[in-house]
Amino acid sequence: MISQAVREALQKFVPSENILYKEPLKNHTTFRVGGEADCLIQVDSMERMPKLLSYLAKVGIPFFVMGNGSNLLAGDKGYRGIVLQISDKLNEIKAEGCRLRVQAGAFLSKAAKTACELGLTGLEFAAGIPGTVGGGVVMNAGAYDGEMRQVVEEVLVLDKEGTLLTLDNGTMEFGYRTSVVKKHPLIVAECVFLLKQGNKEEIAAKMADFQSRRKEKQPLEYPSAGSTFKRPAGYFAGKLIMDAGLAGYRIGGAEVSAKHCGFIINRGDASAADIRNLIVYVQEEVYRQFGVQLEPEVLFLGDF
Ligand SMILES: Cc1cc2nc3c(=O)[nH]c(=O)nc-3n(C[C@H](O)[C@H](O)[C@H](O)COP(=O)(O)OP(=O)(O)OC[C@H]3O[C@@H](n4cnc5c(N)ncnc54)[C@H](O)[C@@H]3O)c2cc1C
Repeated sequence: MISQAVREALQKFVPSENILYKEPLKNHTTFRVGGEADCLIQVDSMERMPKLLSYLAKVGIPFFVMGNGSNLLAGDKGYRGIVLQISDKLNEIKAEGCRLRVQAGAFLSKAAKTACELGLTGLEFAAGIPGTVGGGVVMNAGAYDGEMRQVVEEVLVLDKEGTLLTLDNGTMEFGYRTSVVKKHPLIVAECVFLLKQGNKEEIAAKMADFQSRRKEKQPLEYPSAGSTFKRPAGYFAGKLIMDAGLAGYRIGGAEVSAKHCGFIINRGDASAADIRNLIVYVQEEVYRQFGVQLEPEVLFLGDF
């Protein structure tokens, strides 16, 4: 619950049209599940953030930063606190030679498309990843042998006091689907990509090829959060799940996609609990049959 006093204070930091109370998270996650957040703020300016962050710290209200919610499983009971959504209200892209300076809320697909139009190569892998640049940086998103680590030169972040810091590629501690932002409460504000001059037609063809491979292999017609599990060393999660006989296995409205067993999909009426229970069931079965521990790549948010 957000008290009237807090509601009045929030309006001093953020335009009221960007503040949504009791906002269903299912409207903001690609799994299309999730109960209400007490409040969701659509961030449209990083300049306003320091004052907002220090106010939230002072009154002790927890917050969670989200991008496009494409790697999140939000609980059916929602989130007690404030979700700071950094998405399409902060999506500027500026080209500076071989560099693209991109605000955190810009979609990876938009950054990749801009790079292509400018004949810059390096971001082709990102064209089909349905997240923001901020979320991609946090997750070190990657596909088809490309990942953020290869193209990020530096990242502008806000720390929890609202101080703006510039972190170079090494300081970002990129690893498999992780970065320093997963370990410290930092907010990604902007990212500078360093790309290479390339051939526009070749870049476009590569992106189109990746897109059609996705369409062919992934259940893009259903809500999901992409690969549910990380790739375990020496194995492929999807193959293990298929070999465990779980293709098409359902709990409630959640299903192991028969098209790509690495994806859990929402058949339309899944609850977050259905999806979480299916994740646990798959983990148990794969461990029981093959002794391999699957770790979710999907992140859990709020109360289930
Ligand atoms: C159909 C489909 C296909 C996918 N394919 C791929 C793929 O090929 N490769 C891949 O790596 N992923 C893939 N994903 C997963 C997902 O798109 C990526 O992990 C993406 O990078 C998440 O970005 P997001 O903006 O949606 O972040 P969210 O899901 O909103 O958040 C992810 C994490 O980042 C944090 N975060 C987000 N923005 C910020 C910010 N500005 N500052 C600080 N923290 C922030 C959140 O707190 C959370 O911890 C896929 C998902 C779907 C649905």
